Amino acid sequence: MFKVLLFSAIVFAANVSSAQSEPESAPVQKKHLHGLATTTMGFDDKKGKIELHVNAEAIYGFEHEAKSKKDKARKEKGLAKLEEKIADMIVFDKSLNCEIKKEIFEVNQERRAHAEVIAEFSVTCTAPVAGTSVEFNFQKAFPRIKTVQVDAIVDSVQKSAEITKNGESLELK
Ligand SMILES: [Zn+2]
Repeated sequence: MFKVLLFSAIVFAANVSSAQSEPESAPVQKKHLHGLATTTMGFDDKKGKIELHVNAEAIYGFEHEAKSKKDKARKEKGLAKLEEKIADMIVFDKSLNCEIKKEIFEVNQERRAHAEVIAEFSVTCTAPVAGTSVEFNFQKAFPRIKTVQVDAIVDSVQKSAEITKNGESLELK
């Protein structure tokens, strides 16, 4: 229970800070961190959750509301790619046999010209995740993502990293 609460607290903190970083009155391009994706993950033994926040532009190429047939198709294609590639983007140790499953995919149309993709995944592994490392390859799947801010809680260990290259990893210990 405690871990679940902690995880929610991190997710909540991440939401608050992203809300604060883009006030309505701010110059649009300045505070618009389009190269940034944030990933929060929480694990309890062999099970966990991943929550991903990333601007829609990086996933499907635009951020206005998808109204035309063409835009709807591009949006769908981008989101499908995210679901398909997530296990290549976030790679757990092979010996863990982790399965990543999509739970929630949402697009928050925050204002006319900005939208954010919020994706939640559940992770089920066959061995405890603590003590292993996890590799990130976000840029390979979505080259418009430049930096991935990762916050992880694994059992009682809390780790953070700023991932800027394919193949960088975070030790979960
Ligand atoms: Zn935007």
